[in-house]
Amino acid sequence: MVRVGPAGGAGPTSADGGPEPAGEDPAPVPFTRLDFADPELLEELLGEVRAVAERGAFTLGEPVESFEREFAAYCETDHAIGVSSGTEALALALRALEIGPGDEVIVPVNSFIATAEAVSAVGATPRLVDVDPDSHLITAETVAENLAPNVRCIIPVHLFGATVELDPIIELAQESGIHVIEDACQAHGARYRGRRVGSIGALGCFSFYPTKNLGAWGDGGAITTSVPELAERVQLLRAHGERPRYHHRVVGTTARLDALQAAVLRRKLARLEESNAERRRLGAALRNSLASATGAGPRLELANAAAAEAEHADHVYHLFVVRTPAREELRAHLSERGIASAVHYPIPIHLTDAYAHLGLGPVSLPVSERLAGEICSLPIFPGMSDAEAQRVAQAVLDFTQAAQVV
Ligand SMILES: *Cc1c(COP(=O)(O)O)cnc(C)c1O
Repeated sequence: MVRVGPAGGAGPTSADGGPEPAGEDPAPVPFTRLDFADPELLEELLGEVRAVAERGAFTLGEPVESFEREFAAYCETDHAIGVSSGTEALALALRALEIGPGDEVIVPVNSFIATAEAVSAVGATPRLVDVDPDSHLITAETVAENLAPNVRCIIPVHLFGATVELDPIIELAQESGIHVIEDACQAHGARYRGRRVGSIGALGCFSFYPTKNLGAWGDGGAITTSVPELAERVQLLRAHGERPRYHHRVVGTTARLDALQAAVLRRKLARLEESNAERRRLGAALRNSLASATGAGPRLELANAAAAEAEHADHVYHLFVVRTPAREELRAHLSERGIASAVHYPIPIHLTDAYAHLGLGPVSLPVSERLAGEICSLPIFPGMSDAEAQRVAQAVLDFTQAAQVV
């Protein structure tokens, strides 16, 4: 990763230490920036790591329990259970609902593969469905079209930090006697009609992968729920079904959140409202700047503008995504200007080798397939300066105004 930003000290200098001559390229804009770029935060977190190491208690215990209490309070729900990853959170949530072989689970194909993998991991089958062309998210209409006798659960994904229109999905699920698990791995802290994501379905699943809105120093995850029986089942499953020591009540697994990660996450949770506010502000600034992105050059749109602008929306901008048929040219154009970009995700789940066995070939889920070829994620992260955001926006605008694409 290219390291830039305040941690680097002084701005760019020439070999003799003097100021950079005029006309020199400015520092690159990275795709994201991790904790080491903030020296104060880095010291604080290293202190937490030291404290855990000195106590020598690495599994469960005080840091995990405190984090769980604080994360449940933050999500405005009763229980949070720390687990080893977002994928494990989804799998344990499914197991808590006793979903397994013979069952189908509706999953939007426009997601990270983990949403489907968790379904496969418990022996059930993902029923991959397409997303709405405007919000790029799953809708109740699609769910209704895909209800089938074996379908026992739906996993709406709050993708990119945008919130799914949940109420009609929950209503439909209740009528049909099926469960809703929210995949909130990209939307920590977002609100849907005033409620925190993860507090609305039977269970909510979060990932603390380092680049997520709340990121650990490695892997981690959590499950949120307001149903005490589900909370208890997940607690048993994540640690060998054990309660008390060496009394194994159910066949579980090792999927605990590490005490080290919990200690890091507690500190970062205290800053999450602030860092999400920064993401929202940067997201709004980029949207405003790019609203006028029409010129002689390639067509370019904000990718899930409908989800950001919906009445129920509260986009926390895990990612800022645009779409253009000239995606590769856009990425090359940005790269030449020192601006990083990424694609989330270039291959829809049903077209990966891993899910070829489902037999859904090309043109089966056309919206997601088209998106996969056109989307481009631009840099957005807490600590991004207004000047950096402006440079990103200007580079994109230049691209759309260029009469000829090279
Ligand atoms: C990151 C992510 C996951 C998986 O989380 P891990 O912690 O990487 O296992 C699941 N779903 C979505 C939408 C994600 O973005």
